[in-house]
Amino acid sequence: MRDLWHMRGYLRPYWKAVAVALLVMTASGILMPEAIGKTKRMFDSIFPHMAPATEAPADAIVPDTPTDNEVPDPAKAARTLLMFLLAAALADGFSIYLGEYVGQHLLMELRRALFNHLQKLAMSFYDSQRIGELLSRINTDSMVLQRALAANVGWIVVCPISIIYGIAKMARLSGRLTLIMALLLPIVAVITWLVGTRIRMLSRRMQEKTADLTTVLHEGLTGARVIKIFGIQPQVSERFEDENIAVLHTEMKAALARGLNSPIVGVTIGLSLVGILYYGGQEIKAGNISVGSLLAFLFILQLVSNQVSRLSRVNLNLARAGAAASRHRELLEIDEKLPAPENPVALPVIEGRITFENVSFAYAGRSPAIRNLNLDIAPGEMVALAGPSGAGKTTIANLVPRLYDATEGRVLIDGIDVRDVDKDELRSHMSIVPQDTLLFATTVRENIGYGREGASEEEIMTAARTANAHGFIMQLPQGYETQVGDRGTQLSGGQRQRVAIARAVLRDPAILIMDEATSSLDSESEAAIHTAMQEVLKDRTSIIIAHRLSTIRDADRIITLDEGRIAETGTHEELLACGGLYARLHTMQQVAGQEQAPPTANQDTSL
Ligand code: ADP
Repeated sequence: MRDLWHMRGYLRPYWKAVAVALLVMTASGILMPEAIGKTKRMFDSIFPHMAPATEAPADAIVPDTPTDNEVPDPAKAARTLLMFLLAAALADGFSIYLGEYVGQHLLMELRRALFNHLQKLAMSFYDSQRIGELLSRINTDSMVLQRALAANVGWIVVCPISIIYGIAKMARLSGRLTLIMALLLPIVAVITWLVGTRIRMLSRRMQEKTADLTTVLHEGLTGARVIKIFGIQPQVSERFEDENIAVLHTEMKAALARGLNSPIVGVTIGLSLVGILYYGGQEIKAGNISVGSLLAFLFILQLVSNQVSRLSRVNLNLARAGAAASRHRELLEIDEKLPAPENPVALPVIEGRITFENVSFAYAGRSPAIRNLNLDIAPGEMVALAGPSGAGKTTIANLVPRLYDATEGRVLIDGIDVRDVDKDELRSHMSIVPQDTLLFATTVRENIGYGREGASEEEIMTAARTANAHGFIMQLPQGYETQVGDRGTQLSGGQRQRVAIARAVLRDPAILIMDEATSSLDSESEAAIHTAMQEVLKDRTSIIIAHRLSTIRDADRIITLDEGRIAETGTHEELLACGGLYARLHTMQQVAGQEQAPPTANQDTSL
């Protein structure tokens, strides 16, 4: 419950609505028992001969006006009853709506805070997370909170007020009968508390299990290609089945606890009802209370017990919400961010020099991926990184835009340590074309437009022309307005990469980092990308991560890496001539390329 209470901060912008809601809820909590209490006068007008001469003074804490021994006018009593019933019904309706209003806004704020928080976290956080689990936390936990909280916020206020006010009203009707009932209340409270604790524990486990299930689901859907090709549907289905059943079992345990709660509370309330009917009868016979008092007492008892059961259900729902809220809070408390400089150095324009000074880097818990790297890249120079897979090429590229910070040494831009510059300003000078280009599920135009905020239609088209993408985009069904599908799946690999290049170009960066696609592109796409790159790289400092060595013949300098260290440096011809690692990789790729796909006229036949 503490975690739920912590969420109150999100309600600050809605304090006016919260205040109105509280007022209406309080009114509703009071009006309901008040309206039902009015039935006494109605009954007394129906059974005037059953009214005792005087009610026992001990029971009548404050005598009703007109005094109880007067026979009320039935029409007047009916009017009053009707008025109160109407007011109670209205207040009840409003408090349900306002409760939802407050609850739903709280959830919206929470989702916003969570998403924005996650967007700010460093890459290292994403390396350590399962995307399915994150999705589950945001989706499932928010849903649990939504279901549990939105519908219950109102009752948290209304039920206790109704219960307390109702009991006070009952005490006014008959102190002795109220005492009988009050003896049973603590039992209900204890049961509710015990079941609530168990549900809270089970809910937490359930949400963890749902997260596991979502992970398998996420892998099963996004990995559809691999699963089909390798024919591993049975294994994937089995993993899904295990998680699916685990969720069911945990849910059923919680359902058992919820199921038990209801009859136990019901029986306790039933006991108090029987006790009161029995004892109430005696009191009427003894002339201590009127029939009207007993009937009104029973009606209020009915209301109070309804509110008690409702409150105990609300408690169970809130127990589930509490577990979800605590998981949300854990996420919000993760502070895995890149340290921001205290006095950032302004870097409005850059020449584009990149320097690595004794740089070493290790991913969390891993051996170093980069070891003591020294490299100076002049403004406008095109440097290609080659080397076997896992040599550290991508890691070097990641250090320039500060996706990670060097573990040792410094990375400098124009002689300034990247850690001394505001990371957004630093990144505004560079573009990255990643290996697995992620396109967002929107139009081609918007996907390119993400390169620079506020770019005009004309600028987007120019960028697409430079990236050799305009031609194919115009052939798409709706041209630039074509939806590319989830992660851009409706485009080919080569087309996706050209859209990504256009996005990078639009920014007109001084530094361009391109992680070449590893998957083999068709020769036409490859030629198109090659032409685009030549155009795009002009007058910029660029780092090309070459996986296939086909785009880097024109590089000013090729650096071959091996196990995080520089093995060789030189131009394509120089490195081939010295017959080292680069030459070996080159020969290997040539052989593999010839085996897989004979070079076509469009391909660089020397590679
Ligand atoms: P390359 O780009 O040359 O193929 P990388 O720079 O991607 O190589 O990887 C260098 C080393 O760092 C490899 O051993 C790889 O397993 C490891 N590595 C890469 N990314 C991560 C990561 N996010 N978390 C942990 N280790 C990583």
